[in-house]
Amino acid sequence: MRILVTGGAGFIGSHLVSRLIAEGHTVTVLDDLSTGLQSNLSTEANRIKFIRGSVLSTADLSRAFEEIDYVFHLAAAVGVFNIVKNPLRSLLTNIRGTENVLDLAASKKIPVFVTSSSEVYGKNVSDSLKESDDRILGSPVTLRWSYSEAKAIDESLAYAYHVEKNLETRIVRFFNTVGPRQLGAYGMVVPRFVRAALNNEPITVYGDGNQTRCFAHVHDVIDAVIALAFAKGAIGKVVNIGNDFEISINDLAKKIISETGSKSDVVYVPYDEAYGDGFEDMERRVPDIKLINELVGWKPRRDLSSMIADIATEMKQPG
Ligand code: UDP
Repeated sequence: MRILVTGGAGFIGSHLVSRLIAEGHTVTVLDDLSTGLQSNLSTEANRIKFIRGSVLSTADLSRAFEEIDYVFHLAAAVGVFNIVKNPLRSLLTNIRGTENVLDLAASKKIPVFVTSSSEVYGKNVSDSLKESDDRILGSPVTLRWSYSEAKAIDESLAYAYHVEKNLETRIVRFFNTVGPRQLGAYGMVVPRFVRAALNNEPITVYGDGNQTRCFAHVHDVIDAVIALAFAKGAIGKVVNIGNDFEISINDLAKKIISETGSKSDVVYVPYDEAYGDGFEDMERRVPDIKLINELVGWKPRRDLSSMIADIATEMKQPG
């Protein structure tokens, strides 16, 4: 197929591009390189059409949509630091950008794979978050929640296009995804901890470290994306993609220190100092992954130790 990947130079997007190329598809990437890196696509550079541009520009999008049969829409403002520091740009990119993609796809009748986030569940601390579960959010002017709001609007928009315009849509909610190429600069905890551990520098835990997360290897996540993208049963659905192994941030720090043989200490930093006044974190976020298993038989295969090892190996490489 001829496939467009918006955000294809980003962490998850570039892994998806590699897989699509390996499976024989023709790929166009649209990326404004705001958080993505062209170097993420160095192996595929000669085999893709790369357009440096934004989903906010209808001109860039029109070029990107030329001769396309399928769209993966991953372009988005990501990372908690990024969202709280640039709330307006993040909101516009994540809402208007998605609206632009859906609008053009609907006019050309091209299927769209929309990537949402477990952030939509907000502060729901259920043992296992099902796709139909309620969202529990703080105030819209607590900046962290603006990302959740934007992704939820994206889902509603995509669903409305599906119902009213018959657009073939599939929506997924990524839970914390980690692996090589992920940058710590925008807040992501695992690459930040691994980098600090390898340098024997202090590991900074925000809050008391009792908050938990579930981490999935990006290669598992790409397996899930590919399986769902071409599954008839996923059309019009919202599907969680994540690993249901839960770990506290304190235990994550200990595990990374032990598995990298590091001499790092753990230091505690209050949330306000890390993210600014009035920041609210999520205590836990555990996916229910029954739906994806029923639809396409997917289950995560790689454990946290292999994620840490893969990230550490990449970070130890020169350059
Ligand atoms: N976190 C931390 N130290 C860091 C970066 C993050 O303790 O250097 C915490 C963060 O406050 C959150 C968890 O790790 O509780 C996961 O953070 P991340 O930004 O990776 O993902 P998200 O909060 O979006 O799940």
